[in-house]
Amino acid sequence: MKPSSRAVHAGRDLKARSPLAPDLSTTAVHVYTDLDDYDAVAKGERPGHYYGRNSNSNREMLEKAVAELEGAEAGLATASGMAALHSAMLALAPRPATIVATRELYGGTMALLRHDFEPAGYEVHFVDLGDLDAVRGAIDGAGLVLAETITNPLCGVPDLEAIAAMARERGVPFLVDNTFASPILCRPLELGATAVMHSATKYIGGHSDLVAGVAVGGAGAIGAARARSVRTGTTLGPFDAWLALRGLRTLDVRMRRHSDNSLALARAMRAMAGVARAHHPLLEGSPSFAVATRLLPQGAGGMMAFDLEGGRSAVQRMMSRLRLVVFAASLGGVETTISYPEITSHRSLTPQERAELGVTPGTVRVSVGIEDADDIIDDFAQALSA
Ligand code: PLP
Repeated sequence: MKPSSRAVHAGRDLKARSPLAPDLSTTAVHVYTDLDDYDAVAKGERPGHYYGRNSNSNREMLEKAVAELEGAEAGLATASGMAALHSAMLALAPRPATIVATRELYGGTMALLRHDFEPAGYEVHFVDLGDLDAVRGAIDGAGLVLAETITNPLCGVPDLEAIAAMARERGVPFLVDNTFASPILCRPLELGATAVMHSATKYIGGHSDLVAGVAVGGAGAIGAARARSVRTGTTLGPFDAWLALRGLRTLDVRMRRHSDNSLALARAMRAMAGVARAHHPLLEGSPSFAVATRLLPQGAGGMMAFDLEGGRSAVQRMMSRLRLVVFAASLGGVETTISYPEITSHRSLTPQERAELGVTPGTVRVSVGIEDADDIIDDFAQALSA
C-alpha cells in the first residue's frame, strides 16, 4: 500500500463484526480468571492488556499505525512528544556519551539536553547539520546523532541521507525528530536513520486537540524505550491515543494541502510590505532548496517563517490586525497560526544564541493551515499593509 492508503488503514485488524471505528477503552485495568493467563500476558508471551500504564488497545493501535507508516518494526506512544524523545534518546544512548545535535533544535529539546542530559554526564555538541564537514568532524566517537527533518523555525532541511550514512559507517545511532514533515512527506528510516520520533500533538493529531508523542524504530530500541516509559509513567492516555489515530487517518490529504498552502504563502510573503525575508525549504533561493527537493519531493509541509522589519512592535501590530490567523504557540493544526519564537519555542535561549541561529526580534513562524490559500494570503497582506 502507498502511504496515503496506509494512513487510512494502518494499525487495525478488522474481522467480521469488528467495529469499523475503534472503541475507546478507558479502563485502567483488565480482569483475569487464570493466573497463568495473566502471567503470560504480563510477560508479553500472549496478546492482551492488564494495566493501563503498561498497555491499552487504543495506544497499541496508534503505535502500530505510526510504525507501519514509518516502515518501522515497533512503535511506542507517549504522553507527549518530549516523552517520546526522552525515552528514545535513552534507549539509543543509555549511558553518558557525546550527543551530536543540530544547533537549530526545537527549544524544548534544547532545554532537555541542557537541564537533564548534560547534568547526567552527557556532552552535547551543537552542530550545523547543513555543513556535512562539520558533522563529519563531530561524529567520531559520538553516542547519538539527533536531527530534525525540517528545522524550527527557519525551515532548513539537513541531508538526512548523508548524515545517516556517516552515522552508520561509525556505528552511531541516528535519531530523527520527524514532527514537521510527518511520515507522509518523509520516512527517515528509509534514508538510514535508526529511530524516529514525533510530537503527535502536531500533524499526526492535526486538530490542535491533544498532546501526544510517538517513537518508532527497531524492536530492541523501542522495547527499551517502552520499558522506561512504563517505569516512569509517561505512556499515553486512551482518549488522546484515539484522537491521534483519528487524526492520522486524514494525514495524507492534510499534508498535501498544508504543503501547497505554505509554499503559496511563502512566495506571496516575499512581496508583502515590511517582510525582509521569507523562509521555506522549497522557496527558490532557500539554502535548503536542493536537499529539500530531493528529500521532500511531495512537499515540505505547512511550516514557514518570515522576518519582519521593525522587530517586536511590528509583529505586535501585525498580530492585532490579523482576522483569520491567530497567535498560538503550537503547530500542525488545520487552522493557520503564528508563533513568535523569541518568547515561545526559543525562549530558553539567550538573545545571542537566537541571533546566531538567525532568529531575530522580527521572526514570525507560521503554521499554515488547510484553509483556502487566498484567504490566508489576503489576511497577512491586509495585516501588513500601510
Ligand atoms: N519536536 C518538535 C519539532 C516540536 O515542535 C515539539 C513541540 O512543539 C516537540 C518536539 C515536543 O512535543 P510535545 O509538545 O508534544 O511534547
